[in-house]
Amino acid sequence: MIKIPKIGFGTWQIHGDEAVQATLAALKAGYRLIDTAKIYGNEREVGQAIKRSGVPRSEILITTKLWNRNQGYGSALEAFDESLGRLGLDYIDLYLIHWPGHDREKRLESWKALEKLHSEKKARAIGVSNFTPEHLEELAEHSAASPSVNQIEFHPFIYDRQLPTLEYCKQHGVVVEAYSPLDRAQSMNHPLITAIAEQKDRTNAQVMLRWAIQHGTVPIPKSSNPERIKENLEVFDLELSKEEMQVLDGLGSGKGESALPFWVKLIK
Ligand code: NAP
Repeated sequence: MIKIPKIGFGTWQIHGDEAVQATLAALKAGYRLIDTAKIYGNEREVGQAIKRSGVPRSEILITTKLWNRNQGYGSALEAFDESLGRLGLDYIDLYLIHWPGHDREKRLESWKALEKLHSEKKARAIGVSNFTPEHLEELAEHSAASPSVNQIEFHPFIYDRQLPTLEYCKQHGVVVEAYSPLDRAQSMNHPLITAIAEQKDRTNAQVMLRWAIQHGTVPIPKSSNPERIKENLEVFDLELSKEEMQVLDGLGSGKGESALPFWVKLIK
């Protein structure tokens, strides 16, 4: 059983020295959960930052992921060893199947490989990403071990679509990691997020991350900017009210209209 931090650091779309510097800044700021993947092409740089940070290896949880093309029993085992080599580590804390894909047999074989890696203690915990309740049910029917984590896209603009997965995971004790928790900075400046942030004297990013935490998920924001890396950690002395949570829940579906009187109050 591993204890997962309440927030992690994402590394998608950063490469070379930028990946080293951003991961170093994250470790310095206090992040202890670092998320990478074979397909991000930065496992080597993330591994270098871990070594250079001086933070004891035992304090850091490293996640990497099995890419789609490597699904299958033997190929998953090989891909894991290659990731381990690039990271320069002798174990991974959390190894995930990146996407379910369309091949059920391969998906189940991949999971068997992950179970083997877990039993050999090469992966301290194993899980999945982008799995729906149907994929999770299929795993439950065909395997003994259930995933510790399901990493899914989760932010206010996708809340209604992800609710069935969130509820399934809660019922079955699967930790949900929230990826793209800032919606890749696309709609962070929505006027209602701004209104809540201004009222609380916090930033829009902090409001979005706090929302994910109050839904019981573990957000893994990415930033290459040391100030924003720190800002994104400062979300544990902030509490959103039930009404504020409802407003944010409704942003993607338009159902936020049910909280309209509250919106009006916020915008005034
Ligand atoms: P994200 O974390 O939602 O957003 C990142 C964007 O937000 C960047 O443009 C960043 O710019 C900006 N940003 C970060 N903090 C900010 C702040 N405080 N104020 C304003 N802007 C800020 O997007 P993401 O990278 O897609 O998701 C996070 C992580 O989830 C990824 O890095 C990856 O590890 C993981 N992920 C997993 C999957 C999967 O299939 N499993 C898919 C996507 C992502 P700056 O860098 O300039 O600050």
